[in-house]
Amino acid sequence: MTSTAAAGASTPAAGPNVCGGTRDAPSRPAAQRVVGVLFVDLDGLRARYQCLRPGCPHRREGPAASTDLDENGERIGVGGVKAFIDGIKTQHLSQHHGENR
Ligand SMILES: [Zn+2]
Repeated sequence: MTSTAAAGASTPAAGPNVCGGTRDAPSRPAAQRVVGVLFVDLDGLRARYQCLRPGCPHRREGPAASTDLDENGERIGVGGVKAFIDGIKTQHLSQHHGENR
């Protein structure tokens, strides 16, 4: 029994009292465990990966920066950082944890 006095009784705005139905973010039970964290610095164009798996032999990858030089002495640039972001997790898992995806 909730009897709220006069004040907000007929407010049209949907309050926290809306029951049921429309939630647009279905929260799944935590099925995925976090195995690593990817840090991306969009301003400095840098990225690094930190592995959170227990017993990891190589916790940190990177950082990779757009100003890093590749084997030819040229800057890896934005594309290089992107490639790092895209590939580092897979690469790390296969290299240090023997997993392939
Ligand atoms: Zn690892």
